[in-house]
Amino acid sequence: MKTSLHCLLILVISMLCWEALGQEMLVGFAKKNITPSSPIWLTGYASRTQPATGVVHHLWAKAVYLESSPNEKALIVSTDLLGLSREVTQGIVQQLQLKYGITQKQLIINSSHTHSGPMIWPALSGIADYHLEDQRAVSTYTLGLINTIIDLVGEAIANKEKMQLSYGHGQVDFAINRRQLAASKVGKMLAGPIDHDVPVIKAEDAHGNVKGILMGYACHNTTVQGDNYLVNGDYAGFAQIDIEKKYPQAVSMFLLGCAGDQNPEPRGSLVLAEKHGKKLAEAVHMLVQQKLKPLSNSLQYDALQITLDFQKMDISTYQKELVGDNVFKQRRAKLMLEAINKGWNIDHYTYPIQALRIGKEFTIVALAGEVVVDYSLRIKREFAPQDIFVAGYSQEVMCYIPSKNVLSEGGYEAESSMIYYGWPGPFADTVEEKIMKGVHLVMKNIGIRSRR
Ligand SMILES: [Zn+2]
Repeated sequence: MKTSLHCLLILVISMLCWEALGQEMLVGFAKKNITPSSPIWLTGYASRTQPATGVVHHLWAKAVYLESSPNEKALIVSTDLLGLSREVTQGIVQQLQLKYGITQKQLIINSSHTHSGPMIWPALSGIADYHLEDQRAVSTYTLGLINTIIDLVGEAIANKEKMQLSYGHGQVDFAINRRQLAASKVGKMLAGPIDHDVPVIKAEDAHGNVKGILMGYACHNTTVQGDNYLVNGDYAGFAQIDIEKKYPQAVSMFLLGCAGDQNPEPRGSLVLAEKHGKKLAEAVHMLVQQKLKPLSNSLQYDALQITLDFQKMDISTYQKELVGDNVFKQRRAKLMLEAINKGWNIDHYTYPIQALRIGKEFTIVALAGEVVVDYSLRIKREFAPQDIFVAGYSQEVMCYIPSKNVLSEGGYEAESSMIYYGWPGPFADTVEEKIMKGVHLVMKNIGIRSRR
């Protein structure tokens, strides 16, 4: 009797511990150095006039592989790059499918949007006249990057071991709404939408060692500006370095949120980039030291594509731009007229949307492009009280994704940036409702409904 009571007690205690700890899943981390080995053009600023001249610190591609059961597997890849082009992501997905049976739906690949990283051909090829040798260097780097990421994923899978995932949220305040800053005549910051949330996922092995830390934040990696020719990951690069110094056994990953209209402030130097990075790393460290909420052992994911329409543009607009004196408009007009001449459809863009639910407790919604912060705030509001991080800059970074509000206000993120990115014109004002419809559908497919 005494023994059976004892056994029952042990069973109850272990069940309580299991409940308190969540459940372990198979998790594997890996990282690979993606610093260019030869001089290459950095991208993000149209003002640059030459390739990079040196390196401040290395750039990394990092991966976490998650497996909750033989049929439930997912991958998150982070890159210290401005953004991946569709060709690169599709190249990666094709090889992952062949080698590991991993589909597009199972992969979130995010870019930190550092403006001090190498160009990925042909993204933003219209912001300068690149010599053939420069194009060759960028193309060679781009092809090598695909192979590196395939190897990276292979390592992450090989490194899988039982781990406990847990999560929490911190805050840092160096992101400001740059549209409001630009709108202010006296340089005084006005209150525009911001999202200072810092979601953190911690992965611990069976011995309690921290083996991986994922963090997110919604702020452009543009602390250093176009006068910088040194390779670096901006604040996100510095933050990852700082965290990995504090947790030498861990891979620290950064996922960029809806940072389309969010800039670090103050900005303009590497010293400031390091300062912002340390601030972010400190907020993450404070959380990682604590006991966080456990994530249970399940994975749900889905992805879909929707059609986003561009505003109707008149061919004569491009014909006039072609002979005008704005070199960026000339390059865009040339692209558009060639496309029209070949009969290619340039009235819409096929836009990817996806979501990954880790356990029942935490969901990453991943959107392509430079998504403005209104989306993050709206998605979190409409799905409250679900715990959500909205990652922008995922799968591909092909242009800005304005909200209806930003579109109606106009300006860089709504209109002029489309010229540099080489698109026909601004998105139609249906853009936000179409994306939100797609988000609701993808969320429904992973078992999350809004309260609306
Ligand atoms: Zn940007």
